[in-house]
Amino acid sequence: MESCIFCKIAGREIPTAFIHEDELAVSFKDITPQAPVHVLVIPRQHVASLNESHDQHLLGHLLLVAKKTAEKIGLAQYRLVINTGADAGQAVFHLHLHLLGGRKLGWPPG
Ligand code: AMP
Ligand code: ZN
Repeated sequence: MESCIFCKIAGREIPTAFIHEDELAVSFKDITPQAPVHVLVIPRQHVASLNESHDQHLLGHLLLVAKKTAEKIGLAQYRLVINTGADAGQAVFHLHLHLLGGRKLGWPPG
């Protein structure tokens, strides 16, 4: 999708420092961090939300990339969040996992 900001990031149209990158996914810092560590993990291919994918390999891979990203930045304790749909807080309709940590996180989330 040409107008999708995360497609542009994954395709390097918007220069972004990747923490992890491979053939299926990339991770990079969130532009508006909600915690001392706030990283996004996205698939390279455009998938609007979790509801739009049934690809076990890709979805499992995204979890592993999140874990690898956490390891790489020395984060042993963290939360993964996938906002799905506007009411759940999804603002960018390209599937992404939020990797949050670096402070004690409250529960339940808002
Ligand atoms: P969500 O609300 O779950 O859709 O999350 C979208 C996230 O993308 C928000 O945390 C934004 O801060 C983040 N974001 C939006 N544009 C950019 C960008 N250009 N680079 C990095 N993060 C972004
Ligand atoms: Zn996209």
